[in-house]
Amino acid sequence: MSNNSDRMDKYSTPLRQTIDRIGSTCTDCGACQAGCAFLQHYGTPKAIIEKYDFSDPANQQLAFECSLCGLCGAVCPEKLDPGELFLAIRREAVIHENGNFASYRTILAYEKRGSSALFSYYGLPDGCDTVFFPGCTLPGTRPESTWRLFAHLQRSIPALGIVFDCCTKPSHDLGRQGHFDRMFAEMRDYLRSNGVRRVLTACPNCHKIFKQYGNGLAVETVYEILSRGELPAAARGDGELAIHDPCPLRRESAVQDSVRTILRRMGLTVTEMKHRRGRTLCCGEGGSVGFMRPELARNWRRIRSREAQGRKLVTYCAGCAGFLNRKTPTVHLADVLFFPEKALNGSMRGAGSPLTYINRLILKRRFKKSLAAATQRAGRNPS
Ligand code: SF4
Ligand code: SF4
Repeated sequence: MSNNSDRMDKYSTPLRQTIDRIGSTCTDCGACQAGCAFLQHYGTPKAIIEKYDFSDPANQQLAFECSLCGLCGAVCPEKLDPGELFLAIRREAVIHENGNFASYRTILAYEKRGSSALFSYYGLPDGCDTVFFPGCTLPGTRPESTWRLFAHLQRSIPALGIVFDCCTKPSHDLGRQGHFDRMFAEMRDYLRSNGVRRVLTACPNCHKIFKQYGNGLAVETVYEILSRGELPAAARGDGELAIHDPCPLRRESAVQDSVRTILRRMGLTVTEMKHRRGRTLCCGEGGSVGFMRPELARNWRRIRSREAQGRKLVTYCAGCAGFLNRKTPTVHLADVLFFPEKALNGSMRGAGSPLTYINRLILKRRFKKSLAAATQRAGRNPS
């Protein structure tokens, strides 16, 4: 094994800086390992950077077993973010063309279809400065709830536009930063050049990406808007739900508050699990870990199921809802808002593939027909 300074010379500057930060600050306390099976297996971040030479393609693969969920960063007393280290190593693998992307064919094809001329659609009415960006999974699994969410928001934002497209987070999280930058910048610049100033998100992953890379675009979740205004007429229910906060929103306390406010206003009893809000858990889908180490993905889900203690879960991420629901009954907040009875009695389930694709095509056609869009497009033109 080469010594540390030899290997550091081989790393790109961002990876070197991240390793420097962890090497000089991590105290090896182990707090981040307590909730993470990946770190329990490989060691503390300090032990990992000392043990492994990340210019070796075989060692780079280790980073693809991290869910990038950020729990380690939330509990670290030194305010380090070890997830950043593993994302930097993923990027290193891509820079040196060592990424093993055959395993990720499905998710990358999903992303590519989302931005294709067939599936994407931008409809901007005259005077539109705000768009609803529902992401890929919500419209595919829950087209009617997506449609009703838009219609409800439109009552207070008459010139609301719609954007069906993929935020390209799968590429971002796989370390394909160059591809992500080109794709996201093209979408962001198109929106800005057409007068859009605010994006309303329903997907936690899209939300995180727009917040980080939106470059001047204001970003809010639809749940924040809903919690401040009138709820849909149907939004009444009773019963108890335990909240699973999606990990991309662990630092967004305003969003977490708004979801709890909505549920309480509906008449529902909200209960909390041990890991919640800033210390919430990955559902198992984070970082596309399931494609590389499915047992690690299932482990997250198992922990969540234990914490639920027989309670039904509610979440506000369509990816989390689908993954968690395979082990623990889980409903999506959008369904609870518009179809409370069916959602709460378990007779409403998110669609699965390939129906998700058909749903997206039908929904796109529905919007194209009904929305008076002065500006429209499908597909993207990244340079
Ligand atoms: S980001 Fe999540 S999966 Fe990755 S090391 Fe931290 S806690 Fe573990
Ligand atoms: S919690 Fe922070 S200081 Fe402690 S081992 Fe993890 S990264 Fe290091």
